[in-house]
Amino acid sequence: MTTQKHGFQAEVRELLKLMIHSLYSHREIFLRELISNASDANDKLRFLALSDATLYGDEPELRIWIDHDAAQGTVTIRDNGIGMTRDEAIAHLGTIAKSGTADFFSRLTGDQQKDSQLIGQFGVGFYSSFIVADEVEVFSRKAGHSANEGVRWASKADGEFEVATIERAERGTTIVLHLKDDAKEFADAWKLRSLVRRYSDHIAFPVSMRKEGEATLEWEAVNQAKALWTRPRTEITDEEYREFYRHVGHDFADPLAWSHNKVEGKREYTSLLYVPARAPFDLFHREAARGLKLYVRRVFIMDDAEQFLPLYLRFVRGVLDSNDLPLNVSRELLQQDADVEAMRGALTRRVLDLLAKLAKDEPEKFSAFWKEFGVVLKEGVGEDAANRDRILPLLRFASTHDESDVPTTALADYVARMKTGQTKIYYVVAESVVAARSSPYLEKLRAKGIEVLLFADRVDEWMMGYLREFDGKRFKDVARGDLELGELEDAADKTAAEEAGKAAAGLIGRLKKSLGDRVAEVQAGTRLADTPACLVLAEGDPGAQMRRILEAAGQAMPETKPTLEINAGHALLRHLDALEDGEPFDELALLLFEQAKLAESGSVANPGEFVRRLNRVLGRLMP
Ligand code: ADP
Ligand code: MG
Repeated sequence: MTTQKHGFQAEVRELLKLMIHSLYSHREIFLRELISNASDANDKLRFLALSDATLYGDEPELRIWIDHDAAQGTVTIRDNGIGMTRDEAIAHLGTIAKSGTADFFSRLTGDQQKDSQLIGQFGVGFYSSFIVADEVEVFSRKAGHSANEGVRWASKADGEFEVATIERAERGTTIVLHLKDDAKEFADAWKLRSLVRRYSDHIAFPVSMRKEGEATLEWEAVNQAKALWTRPRTEITDEEYREFYRHVGHDFADPLAWSHNKVEGKREYTSLLYVPARAPFDLFHREAARGLKLYVRRVFIMDDAEQFLPLYLRFVRGVLDSNDLPLNVSRELLQQDADVEAMRGALTRRVLDLLAKLAKDEPEKFSAFWKEFGVVLKEGVGEDAANRDRILPLLRFASTHDESDVPTTALADYVARMKTGQTKIYYVVAESVVAARSSPYLEKLRAKGIEVLLFADRVDEWMMGYLREFDGKRFKDVARGDLELGELEDAADKTAAEEAGKAAAGLIGRLKKSLGDRVAEVQAGTRLADTPACLVLAEGDPGAQMRRILEAAGQAMPETKPTLEINAGHALLRHLDALEDGEPFDELALLLFEQAKLAESGSVANPGEFVRRLNRVLGRLMP
C-alpha cells in the first residue's frame, strides 16, 4: 500500500483555519453537511443506475448509516452511494470548486463573528468535519469499480492530507471523525439521534443507527426517509421547511418565504420554491450556478436546472419533481421541451405571487427581500413583458416624499399621493439616492410639492426604457424635454417665465454663440429655482447612466447634444448679460455649461480645465 501526501489548495487551508477557529457555535452542523453529502452520493448513484442497473451490484437499496464509539471518541457516517475514486478523492476533498470562491475570501474581515456568518453563506460542506474532529478518515469505493480500487483519504487539517489505495468491500463512502477532546459529546447515541431528527429528517434515504442499548448489529431508521416535498403541506412544520431549505439552498440562514405546490392534471409536478434572505456571493456572476434541483418521479436528475425559471428569478432555490419528464432527460432536451416552457411560466407566476403576498402580509420581510434582490427583479421589467404587470407592483423606490434612502415607495403609493391635476409619474436618475435627492432638476417640482421618484440603481434607466406608464399615468424623466406640468403649471409663473425668457433673448443668443457646438439649443425654462442653468436631454437620448453601461460593454457612444436651459430670472445670469462679449463672458458661459453638465452626469469632459477655470473666477473675487 503506497501512501501519498498532498498539500491542500491554499483556499482550503484558509477555510480550514476559519472552520477550526471561528465556528465555535453551531458545531453540530458538521453532521448535517456530511449526511447531505451522503444523500447527494446516493442520489447520484440512483441516477446513473437508471441507465446501468449493474452499478447497484447486489445492494440496490440505498441507505445512510451513522455510528459512534464513545470509548474511541469517533463518529462514523457511511453511505452506499456513488463513492469516489482515488483521483476524485484528491480533487474533491483537497480543493474548492465553487464559483464565487475568490469573492468569499475577499470578503473575510478577520472578525470571527462576521466571518463565521460568511462561512455559513458560502456553505461549509465536507470541511466542516474539522469543526469537531482533529483527524478525519475517508474510505471510499466508486460504484462499478472493483474491491481493490478503494481509497483511504486522511488528514489532520495541518495543511496536508494523505491518500492510499486500499481493499474495500463496500461500495460508497465511510467517513470517520476522530473527535477533538472538547467535542467528545457528539459520540453519543442520544445526541446523534436528536441531531439527525432535527437536521436530516427530510433526507429521502433511511438514516439508520444501531438500536439503542444493544451490542448486536441491529439497525433502525431514525428519520422519516421520505422526500419532504412529497408529503402533504399540512403535515410539514415550518421548521421542517426551513431545515430542508438549508439542504437545497446551501445556506445557513432561514429563507424569507416559500411556496409548496402540487399540480395535477395534464402536467403533473410538485414544486417547492424558496426565496432566500440573503443574496449569494455570485448573484452577478455570469457562470454562477442557478436554478432548481430537478427530480423526475422522486429520482434526482440534476442540480441547477436553470430552464425552469427566468434569469431575473435566479435567486430562487428549491426543487421541482416532475411526473411526466423522461428519466433520461438532459439539459439539451429541457431546452426544447414545450412542457418545460409551460412549467417555467407557471413557476414564474408562483414566485411572483409569493412575492406579492410577502409584500402585502409581511412588508418588513419584503423590504429585506428588496434590499438583496430588488436590482435583479428589475431586470424582469425588461426581460419578461408577459409578467410586467405582476412585477410593477413589486418595485420599490426612494422618493422625495420621505427622507429615507431605503426604497419604500411602491408605484401605487406614488399614484395615491399624486396631486389633483397631476397626470405624470415624475422621476430623476442619478448615481446615488443622495445625488438624486439634491438634483437641481427637482427644484421647481419640490417648490410645488410634487413628489419625484429617485432612481439610482444602475439598471434603472435601462428599465425605464421598457416602461411607458403605470395605472394609466405616463412616466416622466424630469431631466428630459418639457416638464409637462399640465394643470399643475401656475399661469402667473408661466407668464413671468415667458417674460423673463423674452427679456433674455439677447443673452440666449450670446450664450449659444459662445458655447457653439456644445449645446443644441439654449432656452429659458421653468425647471429651476435656485440654480442658474441645467442641461436638458432629448427624450430618446441615452442619459449618463445608460452611457456608462454601454461604454463599459464596449459600445461606442455617439455624442448627443443637450439643450442648456437657463433660469432667466437668476441674478448670476443678469450679471452675465451685463458683461461685454469676450473673455470673461466666454469663461463664465463655459462654467455655467460645465456645472450644468456636472449636475446632470456627475462628471465633466475635462475636470482639470474646469477646476482651473473655476479657480480663475474665484481668484477674481479676492480683494
Ligand atoms: P458540495 O457538497 O457543496 O459539493 P462538499 O464540500 O460538501 O461540497 O463536498 C465536496 C465534494 O466531495 C462533493 O461535491 C463530492 O464530489 C465529494 N463528496 C463529499 N462527500 C461525498 C460522499 N459521501 N460520497 C461521494 N462523494 C462525496
Ligand atoms: Mg456538501
